[in-house]
Amino acid sequence: MSDLGFMGGIRAWINSGVGRTVVGIAVVVLVVIAAFVLYQSSKPNAPDIAAGLYPADIICTDKECGHTATGRYAYNQKFPVACPACGKETAVRSLKCPRCDEVVPSPPGKMRLKCPKCGQRIDIVN
Ligand SMILES: [Zn+2]
Ligand SMILES: [Zn+2]
Repeated sequence: MSDLGFMGGIRAWINSGVGRTVVGIAVVVLVVIAAFVLYQSSKPNAPDIAAGLYPADIICTDKECGHTATGRYAYNQKFPVACPACGKETAVRSLKCPRCDEVVPSPPGKMRLKCPKCGQRIDIVN
């Protein structure tokens, strides 16, 4: 069996000084890569931001839907976008009322909103 011979050769090589060093370095490199991957994945949305996408809360303005979600969009994304629930192009960005936490639709082009629930003025920052 050539496989056994090959594995035997590997084993002998690992047990040699050079083999041990190389295996040791390989293990350290793997651990560093694993730590880096874990670190990257623990940062929320890091891959999205790298791809130019940002989390945005959206609300469907369709009367029968009203679905709210957090999507990921390019910073220059045009709204409305397709609602993930009903599929209609009626989803706009939403803001949370700072006073009563009501989710208020933020139609594109509007710079100032009024909370329909408590009347609080909401300035749109982005
Ligand atoms: Zn919808
Ligand atoms: Zn409010």
